Amino acid sequence: MVIDFHTHTFPDKMAEKTVAHLAKIGGLPPHTDGKRGSLLESMNKYGIDRSVVLPVATLPKQERSINALSAELNGKDVIFYAGGIHPDCGDVCGTLDFIKKSGLFGIKLHPDYQGVHFDDPRYVNIMREAAKRGLYIVTHAGIDVGFRDHVHCTPDMILNVLGQLEGVIDNRLILAHMGSYEMPDEVLCKLCGKPVYMDTAAVLDLYPDKCVEIIRKHGADRILFATDSPWKSQGEYLGIFENLPLSEGEKEKILHRNAERILSVK
Ligand SMILES: [Zn+2]
Repeated sequence: MVIDFHTHTFPDKMAEKTVAHLAKIGGLPPHTDGKRGSLLESMNKYGIDRSVVLPVATLPKQERSINALSAELNGKDVIFYAGGIHPDCGDVCGTLDFIKKSGLFGIKLHPDYQGVHFDDPRYVNIMREAAKRGLYIVTHAGIDVGFRDHVHCTPDMILNVLGQLEGVIDNRLILAHMGSYEMPDEVLCKLCGKPVYMDTAAVLDLYPDKCVEIIRKHGADRILFATDSPWKSQGEYLGIFENLPLSEGEKEKILHRNAERILSVK
């Protein structure tokens, strides 16, 4: 059983344009065309049993359609969805209630694409209310390849939020890109051991040795296998992961057991 906890798809009619735009600003060639059907094809081809799609509301007006689509498609087959919420959401509680009621496991935040810092009071409020409802919060963390000169979610901002929401957000926060993209040394000294999950998306091929160091220090109980498809290849990532010097027990936790707990699936 393999679960890819971090993927992106776009509605068919806008996938081509969106993927081309994101590929250009990030300088990353895509491995699929970003359509849901193409993710399913990739999963079939490479032996990925389940994937989690993380949509981002880049404008408040997108929340409603994103969440309606996530609610409709979540768990219908082998793909699960997070909900989307924007920092300028006019009805945080109502939006989160809808996400919870729809059976979604959590929300996705993207500080760079939503134009706020991770420890912004609006985000802190959203995260407090989400955690209170038993929702998980996935956030992009570290450098974003599209906005290299300004990091909107640093390890220090994460520590600030963990301090403010101590006892509320414990084990509900999922930090993408192994705690912070392209900042593994800061992750090692500041975030390892904190009550957070980290996913392997987009960094496993960049610095696999650092990833192993982080997994060893943080513990395999709170690491999730993830690719960031279409920006990385699910096949290549599974190959790299299988070759990491980890025990079979650790690999099982990272490949599916931890994700099953979060998604409430077996
Ligand atoms: Zn991503």
